[in-house]
Amino acid sequence: MIRIQSEHLEKLAQNHYKAISNYMGEKKIEKWDEQIKKDFSDNYSFKKLLLAQPHELRIMKALFHGETDDYKLFKTYYSYLNSYKDVKFYLFGAEASNSEAKRIDYNAYKLVKDLNISTCPYCNRNTVYNLNKSDGRTSEIDHFYPKRNHPYFAISFYNLIPSCKVCNKLKMEDEININPYEESFDEEFKFIVENANFYHSVDGFKLELKSDDYEVQKQIDTFKLDDLYQNHKDIVLELIQKQAIYNESYLDELLTQYEGTLFKNKEDLQGLISGGYVSDDEIGKRPLSKLVKDISAELGLR
Ligand SMILES: [Zn+2]
Repeated sequence: MIRIQSEHLEKLAQNHYKAISNYMGEKKIEKWDEQIKKDFSDNYSFKKLLLAQPHELRIMKALFHGETDDYKLFKTYYSYLNSYKDVKFYLFGAEASNSEAKRIDYNAYKLVKDLNISTCPYCNRNTVYNLNKSDGRTSEIDHFYPKRNHPYFAISFYNLIPSCKVCNKLKMEDEININPYEESFDEEFKFIVENANFYHSVDGFKLELKSDDYEVQKQIDTFKLDDLYQNHKDIVLELIQKQAIYNESYLDELLTQYEGTLFKNKEDLQGLISGGYVSDDEIGKRPLSKLVKDISAELGLR
């Protein structure tokens, strides 16, 4: 739903690789390289696996010709990660002790913090709650390609999506194709007036999020976005009421009185009225901003 915006993504991916490779050491990486060449192709390596961009993950997923039996896959890759529990636990578990965390100086808490993510990119409903507790982190990290089916992507940077608990749980082992590091989906929320009560009752209108695009609709269904957003119809109702109250003449009055003092300009005032960040690079900063943006645009509030 929301693209993960950071101008430092590539640098963060490199840091991620460096921290893990330093920890593992050359010998272990050589072993990984051998296995990866066997299972993908000679062009691939541990480094490429960890740094593969979303489109490269798609290619690698198709190229994989290792053992397809689930159990053996686990044995080859996932249990390997498990055997180096330090790497796995630093990144994905709550079990790292303080001394271990210090030694690698990198963990999932740091990963989420550096990405500077405030809301879940899958739903934009919940905050990504990231506290560094002595016994681990509190934020969730979803594996875009589920680690059960694709254990070899378990520590690939662009496969790690900070998300809220609800989305992580709803997605489980479903496979979706819109990776938030690569794109967002622009499908808009729409409200449809049902009856004359729509000015003061959430029962007076319908809120809808659906798409003709197969992948987008799949994402909406996976995260039950259309259903879950029904809980936020009150926000839409407020916007409908505000649109009626803040008519052109009232806006002009406010501008005459406060422009340059209380707010910068008309755009600023409109942002204040709708109560959300609505520019594309900011909607990830506050929960429900995509909803506010879409409905505000539909109402002509901005
Ligand atoms: Zn979410």
